Amino acid sequence: MRSRAITVSGPWFLWINLLFCLFILGRHYFTPVLPIARITQAFPELETIMGLILAIASSGIFILRMAYDQQAEWLSKFLHGTLLCISALWVGCFYILLASGDSRIVFPFAALLIFTALISLYFDGRVLLSFTLPIWVVILVCNFVYPSELTMLNAVLYVLLASLFESGRRILRGWFVLAIHREQENRELIKQLQNLANHDPLTGLANRRAFHLLLDKALQRHEQCNTAVSMIMLDVDYFKKYNDHYGHQAGDECLVKIAECLEGATRSSQDVAARFGGEEFIMLLPDANEQQAIEVAKRIQQNIEALAIHHAASPVAPYVTLSLGITSLMPGITATRFIAQADAALYSAKEAGRNQWQIFQTDK
Ligand code: GH3
Ligand code: MG
Ligand code: MG
Repeated sequence: MRSRAITVSGPWFLWINLLFCLFILGRHYFTPVLPIARITQAFPELETIMGLILAIASSGIFILRMAYDQQAEWLSKFLHGTLLCISALWVGCFYILLASGDSRIVFPFAALLIFTALISLYFDGRVLLSFTLPIWVVILVCNFVYPSELTMLNAVLYVLLASLFESGRRILRGWFVLAIHREQENRELIKQLQNLANHDPLTGLANRRAFHLLLDKALQRHEQCNTAVSMIMLDVDYFKKYNDHYGHQAGDECLVKIAECLEGATRSSQDVAARFGGEEFIMLLPDANEQQAIEVAKRIQQNIEALAIHHAASPVAPYVTLSLGITSLMPGITATRFIAQADAALYSAKEAGRNQWQIFQTDK
């Protein structure tokens, strides 16, 4: 947000400096219409200073436009440096004008410059102060060193302006900080919502919705690059009996441990373990052929065996076991068909006595 503010406000403020410069350079033309611009003397140093501001401001605008994707820290430093140079040049300009005895143009000019600086740089107190402070000081000092008939009035107006400037800066800065907080809160909220929408709250695994999205992506990649994709569907054996024997709470804890086992069996972050529903899980294995999927299935069974969660009510083993259905993607099949194949293989594993894996057979 800060870098966006710099890339929008920075060039705008540099444009204002450019226009002010052009006004001073063309002051002879404005004299008939604007009595305030009645300084007509030629000051070679003034023209040089204006030329320098023009050059620095236009290069600054160009660089900020090109560097819009840079870090806020870099942009802030660059703007700080550019505006420090320009501020020093304005100090020189105002000094020349005040020393020449004509303070009429200086006061409104400095006030306008300081207030446009406030509007465009309020979010960065360091840059704002280093631009405005030198201008502020030189005018106050010159007003007393080179007194004119307006000295006292100018000084009073300056104090008034300073308090207006500071209160305005605080209000604007408050809004900016609030906007940044809101943006951070919104980002955090979106992250939490995305997390809720894509994850199973009990196990923390991807949920069915997220799994379908990932499966669609894997199938698209398969169509483009003809990469292999495999899938394993898993179901806890006799889980109803587990719940009945140990209670629902223990059942939940068991599901969490199984989920950890599945995650532990993945080959890389590309493999996705998801909770498909109830005590059914599903694994998507991109870039895995049937043999690689079998390796993953074996690893899952080893992990579950190592966990050895007691299941006294299970007819197949004294520990919690899984049945697994493995299938690999064949050309031209849809996501629904692919899942149905994994389900069919799982059914075969259940039929064959549970606590085992089966591969989908086309003739079934
Ligand atoms: P099978 O070997 O044929 O799969 O038998 P099963 O008992 O595992 O299958 P069944 O479909 O009869 O029962 C599944 C049980 O899973 C029933 C349900 O209470 C339990 N279950 C589903 N979701 C949860 C959950 O989030 N927490 C707990 N504790 N139990 C769950
Ligand atoms: Mg089951
Ligand atoms: Mg089931």
